[in-house]
Amino acid sequence: MTEITCKLLVVGAGPGGYTCAIRAGQLGTDTIIVEAEKPGGTCLNVGCIPSKALIHAAGEYETIARAAEGESALGISTAKPSLDFARTIAWKDNIVRRLNGGVAGLLKRAGVRSVAGYARFRDGKTVEVETQSGRQMIHAETVVIATGSEPVALPFLPFGGRVISSTEALALTEIPRKLVVVGGGYIGLELGTAFAKMGAAVTVVEAAPRILPQYDGDLSDPVARRLTALGVTVLTGAKAKALVADGTALAIETASGEQTSLEADKILVTVGRRPATSGFGLETLDLDMDGPFIRIDDRCRTSMHGISAIGDVTGEPMLAHRAIAQGEMVAEIVAGRRRAWDRISIPAICFTDPEIVTVGLSPSEASSKGFDVKTERFPFKANGRALTLDREDGFIRTVVRADNHLLLGVQGVGTGIAELSAAFSLALEMGARQEDVAMTIHAHPTQSEAFHEAALKSLGHAIHI
Ligand code: FAD
Ligand code: NAD
Repeated sequence: MTEITCKLLVVGAGPGGYTCAIRAGQLGTDTIIVEAEKPGGTCLNVGCIPSKALIHAAGEYETIARAAEGESALGISTAKPSLDFARTIAWKDNIVRRLNGGVAGLLKRAGVRSVAGYARFRDGKTVEVETQSGRQMIHAETVVIATGSEPVALPFLPFGGRVISSTEALALTEIPRKLVVVGGGYIGLELGTAFAKMGAAVTVVEAAPRILPQYDGDLSDPVARRLTALGVTVLTGAKAKALVADGTALAIETASGEQTSLEADKILVTVGRRPATSGFGLETLDLDMDGPFIRIDDRCRTSMHGISAIGDVTGEPMLAHRAIAQGEMVAEIVAGRRRAWDRISIPAICFTDPEIVTVGLSPSEASSKGFDVKTERFPFKANGRALTLDREDGFIRTVVRADNHLLLGVQGVGTGIAELSAAFSLALEMGARQEDVAMTIHAHPTQSEAFHEAALKSLGHAIHI
């Protein structure tokens, strides 16, 4: 067994871990990162990136397929398209490969030593890694746990055979004829929509009374309507029960208590993710937990001196950009800089069709925090750019303090509005008031004008409505 030492050891090279290691390297910290799989973690390999590639491909295909059905309002007609799904997957895999190489290169350029293998904690400062060239013991002054998360399985529907998680869904070799999705949250709806657009007959089984229960109904309703238009069957208040005997269908109980079954070529289970905290010796450390997550303070320090934790392993929201921001902060703290978590908001985007963007507090969250709030919505049907895109569903909503007009939150639902999240976040982090948004010239014609108009409307003088 070889033994090496470093100042900073990062376990897990997902967006949290690799960002932490790169920033640490930039700051001159002697850093080692250990990764069991490919660099980039869930996000790059089996999450954000491959799912968005498939969503994009599916959108392109559906637009052409609709035109072929004579349903293009733009006057475009074409022959019935075909989809070479193997090529779609190869294209997606190539993007992932390029980014894998990119992350490895960035780590190297920052002077970070990468160790490939599964790390097991021996104590709070030491891990043992099974590498291809033998066992390696790594001693570190500071350790960052960035081991991420994994899909939750239902006890009566274990993964295997027709029952798949998002990881297998992103590596299918053909479009399932009948796809049943259990869980109408982020992953179920993003991937369910993509497969529906590519020709699968999709049924979503969601236990809550409506899809995307983490958002308010105003935001999820346009998505529900679009799912219906795409031919997706959405069963809310429904419970998955069991695989039926030959494994070709899913037994469910509907909202009205009816027992029935849904035939399926694949059953995609997307009922959440859980932090990766077991199987690598973490249990032997005396870390305080916060439910299933590792408890951290505002500097991402755990209850043990010299051990920090970042990313999905530390709690909700389990989003890549939260992990990235934590990773960067921890690297700077290790290098001696004064940093603490002081972010006003973590944006969230659901890449459904239409997309949902939320930044800061929703109206009900703001009210429950004791704020007297003023909420205003500007619909995309009054936005010229949305009309030119032939998609006028959705709106932008601002939530401000009634007394001083400070922006507390911005939410929206609309086609392709993910990129607006940056403007919303910047406004919140800069402490913008409604007047600041109103006094900012928003380029015409853009969907961002709906943000401007929502601010104007809140001030009582919207122009275009
Ligand atoms: P991870 O990315 O999970 O990385 C952890 C890494 O640690 C893994 O590579 C793992 O192999 C490694 N590891 C674990 N244990 C060990 C060990 N003992 N030794 C060595 N290595 C170990 N988030 C968004 O913000 N936007 C999106 O659009 C989005 N889309 C998603 C789509 C899907 C289908 C999924 C599944 C997730 C999506 N997410 C999205 C969530 C996002 O992927 C996670 O929030 C993010 O990857 C968390 O980063 P992390 O660094 O905490 O952990
Ligand atoms: P989720 O929490 O978004 O959705 C799970 C859904 O499953 C919920 O609507 C829940 O009510 C439902 N559910 C739970 N148990 C059920 C059961 N037995 N039967 C039927 N429905 C049931 O979880 P997810 O979609 O698995 O995604 C996991 C996490 O990954 C997300 O919370 C998010 O943090 C991250 N993610 C983010 C993005 C993004 O940022 N665009 C995309 C994908 C995933």
